[in-house]
Amino acid sequence: MLQIYNTLTRQKEYFRPLNEGRVGMYVCGPTVYGDAHLGHARPAITFDLLFRYLQYLGYKVRYVRNITDVGHLEHDADEGEDKIAKKARLEQLEPMEVAQYYMNRYHRDMEALNVLPPSIEPHASGHIMEQIEFVQKILDKGYAYISNGSVYMDVEKYAKDYHYGKLSGRNLQDIVTDTRDLDGQEEKRHSYDFALWKKAAPEHIMRWKSPWSDGFPGWHMECSAMGCKYLGEQFDIHGGGMDLIFPHHEAEIAQSCAALGHDTVHYWMHNNMITIAGKKMGKSYGNFITLEQFFSGEHKLLSRPFSPMTIRFFILMAHYRSTVDFSSEALEAAEKGLTRMQEAYSRLMSLKAGDKTTIELTNLRELCTEAMDDDLNSPIVISHLFDSARAINTIHDGKATVSSDDLAQLQATWKTFVIDILGLRMEEATADDSKLNAYKGAVDMLLNLRLKAKEQKDWATSDLIRNQLTELGFSIKDKKDGFEWSL
Ligand code: ZN
Repeated sequence: MLQIYNTLTRQKEYFRPLNEGRVGMYVCGPTVYGDAHLGHARPAITFDLLFRYLQYLGYKVRYVRNITDVGHLEHDADEGEDKIAKKARLEQLEPMEVAQYYMNRYHRDMEALNVLPPSIEPHASGHIMEQIEFVQKILDKGYAYISNGSVYMDVEKYAKDYHYGKLSGRNLQDIVTDTRDLDGQEEKRHSYDFALWKKAAPEHIMRWKSPWSDGFPGWHMECSAMGCKYLGEQFDIHGGGMDLIFPHHEAEIAQSCAALGHDTVHYWMHNNMITIAGKKMGKSYGNFITLEQFFSGEHKLLSRPFSPMTIRFFILMAHYRSTVDFSSEALEAAEKGLTRMQEAYSRLMSLKAGDKTTIELTNLRELCTEAMDDDLNSPIVISHLFDSARAINTIHDGKATVSSDDLAQLQATWKTFVIDILGLRMEEATADDSKLNAYKGAVDMLLNLRLKAKEQKDWATSDLIRNQLTELGFSIKDKKDGFEWSL
């Protein structure tokens, strides 16, 4: 039976859905004002694994993953302008054009990573009414106050009746010391009060009418309102990255309890973060690598391109609650592992059955299920598959045989766990990688021939190779120690 770690109770719990056979699950999705990076891949893949496994267990899952397109989340520190609005103003675009552009790119990256689309993908900007209603409920219950057209959560009043800080384990005193958000400080009663609705400054182009002012919802409101709308006042699972525990999810709990008088979420699940050489990933650290850069290899920290399946495998090789430190070497190791798995997979699918099984086969399905039931322990699933790969290779090498029943079972188990649950594309990835490597090898070979020609002062051949490759769309740069090319 599935056990998952609940951040709220700080322990593993047996998963018991509210409605038999059905699961409601909400995961905080991306803010669409920039390209997706490795930090986006981890929650997407973690909750994709859960989504896939719950379906394997027979549940009907309604998976809601929102799109934050009201750019209230990240403000430009200098001007206090939201990033989508700023980009829109500078490039003379509709804010929705900016959001749509990045949303399309996010979807493209998710598809490359074989992340299944959620059941519902609601946009914050399409749910302003629901958010206004939610704010009104909190005001009606007396846990919020209006100040200069903005509405703030009255955290002190709330904390008298409910436990503010129960998810993050913080108390109000810690929060006061930690609060760096100076936004609206002069309007708030306490520094830890957070905005439910913000009055828009005159230059703010994303704004909506409300009973309090022309403005926009506070940054935690969309998830409370949309979770409630699509999954009900109580639902099973809410997930996201650990960096969202405070303030985002803590605030969501407060908003829901204040408005409804009770908790909404039964199991809070959080994936750990990815660091790069031990450091947090971020634009300011210069170690910010987008998924597109991983796929193309165009970043100084990358030795070469890595396929989307390598990224997926790399993330699944660690348990979702443990930290993952990224390096080019770690990705190369993941790539080797994936290749090994792909080799075993294609061997398994083409094995011929013998009269009987002459090798000890573990009960792979049982072992993998046990690992997944243990809080989605994907690295253990992968290690069981590698054990099985050794047996497959022995049979493939003719050192053992397998009966047709055992073979059919083994093939079905690999399909279930590798393709359906871990979501790894097998054959295609092999084909793609080998094609890609062949093409790269061919271009390198031509350019090496050109170097030889230059050494021999055969300028005609050297120019011919250069010109023809350029015509085909390659850009070639001569370097002291050789060459560099890109398409
Ligand atoms: Zn959220």
